[in-house]
Amino acid sequence: MPEGHTLHRLARDLTVAFGGSAVAISSPQGRFADGAAQLDGSVLEDAEAWGKQLFVRFGGDRFVHVHLGLIGTFAVHRDVDAVPDPVGAVRLRIARPAGPTGPAAYADLRGAITCALVTAAERDAVVARSGPDPLRPDADPGRAWDRIRRSRKPIGALLMDQRVLAGVGNVYRAELLFRHRLHPLRPGSTLRVSQWQTMWDDLVELMADGVLTGRIDTVRPEHTPEAMGREARRDDHGGEVYVYRRTGQPCHVCGRTVRTAELEGRNLFWCSRCQPVFRSRAVG
Ligand SMILES: [Zn+2]
Repeated sequence: MPEGHTLHRLARDLTVAFGGSAVAISSPQGRFADGAAQLDGSVLEDAEAWGKQLFVRFGGDRFVHVHLGLIGTFAVHRDVDAVPDPVGAVRLRIARPAGPTGPAAYADLRGAITCALVTAAERDAVVARSGPDPLRPDADPGRAWDRIRRSRKPIGALLMDQRVLAGVGNVYRAELLFRHRLHPLRPGSTLRVSQWQTMWDDLVELMADGVLTGRIDTVRPEHTPEAMGREARRDDHGGEVYVYRRTGQPCHVCGRTVRTAELEGRNLFWCSRCQPVFRSRAVG
């Protein structure tokens, strides 16, 4: 599943490719045919992400709300000579032919769980249900803290709950917990506000780096392959990480074997020495 940095990159790419242009909108596969017919020929103003939600804004304050889900893709092709015929089940196509303003561009959405034409009020309602997004300058980390500090649920579950925090997926969750030496099952209510603020600041920096590079790198300078004299990681997610999908391999910091377990249907990854089980002083 794409994490928040992917959606912010996508919003940027869509805005660069089509922002301010009248575009052809179609639904070759047919499932978005009504929405496409209403938007065809309209000006695409821009696109923005809020966590894993993407909103493509058209003239008249109309939006296409997209959520990629687990397998969705939205591929943006810029600077092409001509727009090719669609291949496969394309739910939504945005296209701009070559013209005086530049070469042709097109974008194809496939496999998304949500692709809907919505009003500004409907968009606002989706945003209101989402937690703060570390990639948005207007985000308020205090809103997430209000949920975390009141919850007995594991911090590992809270970080992935998009109503608590928007945009964090399994990779950022695993890596953030490692970097802050927190066991994934530690109850949210046992954290201190200073810990949360430090985590948030770290997440803002890590995710902004992800937007720039298109991959998730979370290891500190002393733990890069070059610094440690080790092989670079081979994984289709790319990026150098401490624990994500490193089950059974030695921790880069302490050497203990990285562990995994399932929580709410997704895998947790952690180091049992660097991230010890939390014991409440009250229980002693
Ligand atoms: Zn360790």
